[in-house]
Formats: sequence, C-alpha cells, structure tokens
Amino acid sequence: MLVIIFGAGESGVGAALLAQAKGYAVCVLDQYKIKSSLKASLQKFQIPFMEQQKEICLEKNIDFIVKSPGIPNDHPWIILAKKKYIKILDEIEFASYHISFHSKIIAITGSNGKSTTVHLLYHFLKKKKKKVALVGNVGKSFSRQLFENSDYDYFVVEISSFQLEYIHTFKPHIAAILNISPDHLDRYQYDLQKYIKAKWRIIQNMSPTDYFVYHKDEKNIDDIVKNHPSLTSISIASDPNYPFLYCHVEKKKIVLQNSHLQCFGLHYHKNVCLALTIINLLGIPLVDIQPHLSSFRGLPHRLEYVGHCHQVDIYNDAKATNVDAVYRAICSFDRPIVWIAGGIDKGNDYTVLLAMAAKKIRSLICLGKDNILLKQSFQEVIPYIFETTTMLVACQKAFTLAHRHDVILLSPACASFDLYKNFEAKGNDFKKNMLFLIQSVQ
Ligand code: ADP
Repeated sequence: MLVIIFGAGESGVGAALLAQAKGYAVCVLDQYKIKSSLKASLQKFQIPFMEQQKEICLEKNIDFIVKSPGIPNDHPWIILAKKKYIKILDEIEFASYHISFHSKIIAITGSNGKSTTVHLLYHFLKKKKKKVALVGNVGKSFSRQLFENSDYDYFVVEISSFQLEYIHTFKPHIAAILNISPDHLDRYQYDLQKYIKAKWRIIQNMSPTDYFVYHKDEKNIDDIVKNHPSLTSISIASDPNYPFLYCHVEKKKIVLQNSHLQCFGLHYHKNVCLALTIINLLGIPLVDIQPHLSSFRGLPHRLEYVGHCHQVDIYNDAKATNVDAVYRAICSFDRPIVWIAGGIDKGNDYTVLLAMAAKKIRSLICLGKDNILLKQSFQEVIPYIFETTTMLVACQKAFTLAHRHDVILLSPACASFDLYKNFEAKGNDFKKNMLFLIQSVQ
C-alpha cells in the first residue's frame, strides 16, 4: 500500500511515522523547505521525502493521500489528486483508523477557546488519573501520538476547521463546537457559510450514543442543532451574571465563582463549564473536579497577566487573532483600556467592536505594517490612534497613554506574520518589553 503525505509539518510527519509503522510505503512531499527537526524525524526512520517541490506527478498506484491542515483546498496538488480520483484523508482521519476499540475521542472545535478547553479537559482527566493524551492542533499530532504510544482511554483532540475538510469516518464519542465567528475566511473565499460548514463536519459520523456539547446562547450553533434531531446534544445554559456565573447543565447547576478559578473573563467561564459538562458525561462526579479548578493556571498569551506599574495592569492576549477574541477580552474589563492591535488582516469586520470601543478604549496603538483598516474603522470612536512597527515603541507609548487603574492590553485581532514568526513570538516580545519597562521605572 502506497501513501503520499502532502505537507511535512507536525501533522504530515506524524502521519508518515504512523503510516510506515503500520506497514505502508510512504513518501512525504512539501512545497517548501522542511523544518530541520521534522526532517530529522523522517531521516531517522528512513522515510523518503521531497522538499521544495513545485510540480509533482501522482502515479496510479497511490492508495491514498494524507493532507496536512496547512494545505488549502484549492492547492494545485489537491486539484491534481482529485483529477486522478485519488482518495484524500485528513491527518486526524488517518490517525483515527489506528486507535484501540476501547479508546474514546473527545473532539473540540470552535473559533476561539479550543486550546484552553482541551487543556482544561486534559488537566481534569489527568488529576483523576485517567489514561489521557492531548493531541491535534495543539503540540503533538494525533498520528505522532499513536506512533509513540496508543495505549490511552481518552484522546482529547483539538481540531481546526482545516482538519475536518477530508474526514470520512472520523467519529468522536464526544464533540463540542465552542463558538463560530468569522476567522480564517481567506481560506474559505471570504464566505462565512463555507467556514461554518467545515466546522460542522465534526458531527457527520456521530451516532445517537455519542454526545454533542454546546452553549445554548451561541445562537448560530443552537440553530443548526435544531436541524439535527438524531444528534444527542447537551446544551449548556449560562447565567451571564458574571462574576457569579451559573451553568445549568441539563438539570444540574454548576456554580463557578471567581475564587474557584485562576483565570477570568466570561468566555473563560464558558470554557470551564463546557469542560465540566464533558467530564460529567464521562461519569466523573463534578465534586471530584472542584478541587482541581484552581490549579489550572491558564495558557500563556490568552489574556495572560503580565504585571502592573503605577496601578496599570498589563495583559498579553497575543492569541486573540480574530475580532471575536478581542471582543471577549475587552468585555472582560470594566476599566479604560489602552489597546495594542494590528498585524495581518484576515478579512476582519470591526463593526461589532465599535460601540464597546467607544466606551472602553482610551487609545489604540496599531502595531503592524499595514494599519489602514484598523485606523479607518476606529478613527470615529477612539480619541487617539498611534502607529508603529516596533514593540518597544508600542509598549513605551502605551505607558505614556495609560492613566492610573487603566489596563494595557495586547489583543491583535490579526495574524502576527507581518512582524513575527507567530503569535507566541509576538506575545513573548510584548512581555519582555513590558517587564523591562516595569523594572526600569521601579
Ligand atoms: P483557540 O485554540 O481556539 O485559538 P485559545 O484557547 O487559544 O483558543 O484562545 C484564543 C483567544 O480566544 C484568546 O485570546 C482567548 O482569550 C480567547 N478565548 C478563549 N476562550 C474563548 C471563548 N470561549 N470565546 C471567545 N474567545 C475566547
């Protein structure tokens, strides 16, 4: 059996390792230069690969192709594969063929909150000494995990829409869509419906003995659930009287108080409620989890507290690379905000932020190479807008603009690739500069 892998990132290399271990002949193709650590994995196991390939030819004897999530649907290689009627699989689809019959897949998708929620689930299940692996769009690929060790009862899988385009039998026992708001529209011809459709593929193979979990107040999800009567859906209704948030999960009521949690924000509470609901569906009593709520410290770059100076609190939300995540971040504060945003626009519509920005944003610092859309969108509602391409200048300016009790918030609403390798590099640079400035004034 011959398998061709498109893309040699973490997913593609994971799939190659697993495929070879399962007895397939494998060849990995990448359009670009392969990262040296990943290339080393391929070399170690003598897996053939070709990098920096523009043109490829696909032979008739290929059994199927495993596609990495980074390769868009309209990529010439995908078009060629389709023309030749070669079956294409997503990496998570291929991985799911190789789990033990007793293992259960818990799959989480959504526009925002996936990483936080899968980490919460992993944290709770680990604390209960369950055999659980955390895989997918977060660190280790599902395939690589199965290659290294498949002896787990639960696979908590973080899934992006890009990983669902070529699933055929992938079947989670529990699936959740946290929310759907415009993101990655550049991959969906700027058509929100196409993005929504891709996300909903997560349920396509689920049977009535599986569970779909969602928040009732996510209107666009609730509407679609109603059209799937055979889906066993568990809805969570939250009382928005934050900070004393109640989640009514079926007939049970989960009371979350800020003192139980290390992180804040209504959106964070929603992630916790969703994770607790899933834990409960696995038969673990919620009272057993209560002591472990406060030991979850949150993830870096997600509304992460950096420090304070002259009663100004500083938060790093570098992972907020879409408008909805920024909206939730701004909602989380009841004080004026000096907001640092910008980067590569992903087809953003800032209209939903305008009313709140008018009330809460003291000044906007645009940190990016092209800030035209940001400036045009907010010039009527934010009294002062400043532009720079340097993090140190952005941080210094934020200090001079912030009043006592304000918040300085890095929450870009855009991708980070104009100035940085990724959002982590941007967030780390922000923290480094802010901590330097805090130290220098003390
Ligand atoms: P993802 O993995 O889906 O990108 P993360 O947990 O990494 O999600 O969080 C990404 C951004 O979204 C962060 O800015 C975070 O504060 C924000 N966020 C987290 N949970 C939610 C939620 N439920 N709704 C909206 N925004 C959220």
